Amino acid sequence: MIPFNRPLYTGNEDKYVTASMRSAKMSGDGEFGKLCHQWFEDHLGCTKALLTPSCTHALEMAAILIDIQAGDEVIMPSYTFVSTANAFIMRGAKVVFVDVRPDTMNIDETLIEAAITARTKAIVPVHYAGVACEMDVIMEIATRHNLYVIEDAAQGMMSTYKGKPLGTIGHLGAYSFHETKNYTSGGEGGLLIINDESFVNRAEIIREKGTNRGQFWRGMVDKYTWVDIGSSYLPSELQAAYLYGQLLEAEKVNEDRLRTWNYYYEAFAEFVGKIELPHVPEHCAHNAHMFYIKLKNLSERTAFIEGMKEQGVMSVFHYVPLHSSPCGKLYGALCGNDNFTTVESERLVRLPIWGGMSSEERKQVYSAAATVLAEI
Ligand SMILES: *Cc1c(COP(=O)(O)O)cnc(C)c1O
Repeated sequence: MIPFNRPLYTGNEDKYVTASMRSAKMSGDGEFGKLCHQWFEDHLGCTKALLTPSCTHALEMAAILIDIQAGDEVIMPSYTFVSTANAFIMRGAKVVFVDVRPDTMNIDETLIEAAITARTKAIVPVHYAGVACEMDVIMEIATRHNLYVIEDAAQGMMSTYKGKPLGTIGHLGAYSFHETKNYTSGGEGGLLIINDESFVNRAEIIREKGTNRGQFWRGMVDKYTWVDIGSSYLPSELQAAYLYGQLLEAEKVNEDRLRTWNYYYEAFAEFVGKIELPHVPEHCAHNAHMFYIKLKNLSERTAFIEGMKEQGVMSVFHYVPLHSSPCGKLYGALCGNDNFTTVESERLVRLPIWGGMSSEERKQVYSAAATVLAEI
């Protein structure tokens, strides 16, 4: 059976994890936490990068940092993971969902302005499949309406928009190191990216349970105390050490994933007409986070997934639109029409892809799919 995903393992992780186990500090922000922060600040060129236990937690920190209050509105696509919405709903916000573009499955930037009201506080673009949203348009709208932009770049590490790394364009950004993403800190993990100096002090406090312990360690205050709301948003050194081993191979892993993605893209070209292939705009460099195809409709997709399973290959659908979920109806609403979110999400199926996938494995996925598609 070919699984849908294998968590990345480069062989580099063991020695760093062992070193962190033998060190005198295993809680967050030790040697490996600092090395990871430095790596991201160097590679992203962001003001500050802070590891978190998950992307969900990074998004929660972002919601606290922009001071979301009860009744504030936050604009995002409905076609996303629950954490994008939960982080803001937990602070009392109402979520305003906007339709996606069928070509990239990203928020339709031309519909955002119509969703803005006097209560709108932020726009949360989600870079689906590691392919960038139209950030120039989104930033221009946000600037004109005085809104924050928080990039859910959970899938976007190593991707760029007009040369800028995803997560570094808005005020704040978030990455995920869950085992299903391109890089992992041992199963779970995330990163908060801060692009605006004014958030840095408070982010460190919120992440340290609302204390100024960070300033205390740096000798800036002579005792630490409770100064703000906060939570336990530091991952352990074990997670940082695991991730650090992978960061040193980041470029190689990215190239390897792109090889598999490009193989699929070329191989499936012969089925265009029966299926649709993913679209990557010219000005976006992507990270091959995901390879999906779109079938004609839900019943063809169901038949495809079944057929693939019989051929020994796992293929999986993705998000059920949040605006039609029980919680989405309670805490949010769709603004405008659902022209594409539901119909396009019902056609989409993701094929196996991971860093280190062998050429035999991807050929097997392709030939299974070719057999199934010939019968559909
Ligand atoms: C994976 C993912 C998340 C959540 O990441 P965790 O690290 O599991 O919390 C949030 N948003 C999107 C778009 C994701 O793909």
